[in-house]
Amino acid sequence: MFKAFLIKYAEIGVKGKNRHLFEDALVHQIKVAMKRCEGKFYVHKTQGRIFVEAETEFDYDEAVARLKQVFGIWGICPVVYAEDGGFEQLTKDVLDYVDKVYPDKKKTFKVNARRANKNYPKESMEINADLGEAILNAFPEMTVDVHEPDIMLNVEIREKIYIYSEIIPGPGGMPVGTGGKAMLLLSGGIDSPVAGYMIAKRGVKIDATYFHAPPYTSERAKQKVVDLARIVSQYTGPIYLHVINFTDIQLYIHEKCPHEELTIIMRRYMMRIAEQIAKETDCLGLITGESIGQVASQTMASLVCTNEVCELPVYRPLIGFDKQDIVDISEKIGTFETSIQPYEDCCTIFVAKHPVTKPNVKYIRRHEENLSEKIDELVKTALETQELIIVE
Ligand code: ATP
Ligand code: MG
Repeated sequence: MFKAFLIKYAEIGVKGKNRHLFEDALVHQIKVAMKRCEGKFYVHKTQGRIFVEAETEFDYDEAVARLKQVFGIWGICPVVYAEDGGFEQLTKDVLDYVDKVYPDKKKTFKVNARRANKNYPKESMEINADLGEAILNAFPEMTVDVHEPDIMLNVEIREKIYIYSEIIPGPGGMPVGTGGKAMLLLSGGIDSPVAGYMIAKRGVKIDATYFHAPPYTSERAKQKVVDLARIVSQYTGPIYLHVINFTDIQLYIHEKCPHEELTIIMRRYMMRIAEQIAKETDCLGLITGESIGQVASQTMASLVCTNEVCELPVYRPLIGFDKQDIVDISEKIGTFETSIQPYEDCCTIFVAKHPVTKPNVKYIRRHEENLSEKIDELVKTALETQELIIVE
């Protein structure tokens, strides 16, 4: 019975003069999301409201599921709309709506009419009273409560008439694209996809870099990262995934540096390379899935070491989260099942038995000197031979 959705947005409602930019970005993101659905939709903005109208048959559940993935949406209201066929027809439509949407009639309600079309023969107050009376007559179990009704029945009179009362919660956040772009260091683990999701939710467009180390890491491990990027892209829009062959760099670090410092030095090279790609692609920051103390390479002392090689800000949205909190989000956004597939990442293959937990940044710098100019060559080659996968 629903043929349209009225989209309510929260935070972007308060953006002052830039408000239209945020609204346009939201309309764009909704269009991108609805393209993935069966059917055709007309997404438009009128008088500070965004409507998604179905122009063909569509799958209601699928459409709602897609809208629930669009950041910037606070609420999704399924709408019934009709041509203006006079007040008698409107009364019939409203009674029909109430009857179908609320099979259980033991409910309180309030009619909230808005007359955007000022030529309509009745005023809002009169419409409220007349429709309220008609509902009470038709469904004697229902009662009016103007303060805290179970059902707020909205009737908007525009060029067409819109009836809605339900609000399905959206994901919140800001429309992707309103906050610039950042480079996510995406591995096959649980954390980094969640980190990307969280920053994207603040309106930031995401690109990603993945370091793989064939033949130590399998093609399947890479495919897992592509799969994760695809799930995240359902929320963020297309993701440009840069795949860097890290094998020679890792082997060389393994050969030249103390083994307990391998992970830290390797992480520093990951950050350096990701930053270089970030700068070339207009990204304004890096994103990682790090969380204090989760592993040896994520102690405060280790983070000092990985952080110092970057000029761009490094966003670590999970920094204060327990693992279980992160797992909960990954389950909610749908990445968990893919993340726990057992294909190894390059980090797990070259780990030392006893990695340093309190690396001293001076020693790390000194040991990196062992790598001489050859490491710059290897980094250059890794960048030149990168593979770009557009994931959507
Ligand atoms: P995750 O679950 O995200 O893999 P993790 O707990 O395994 O994280 P680390 O292996 O220490 O933690 O990695 C810390 C962060 O570094 C990751 O969250 C990710 O952002 C980045 N990272 C690690 N390995 C890779 C990789 N192979 N490619 C790209 N980024 C990586
Ligand atoms: Mg990992």
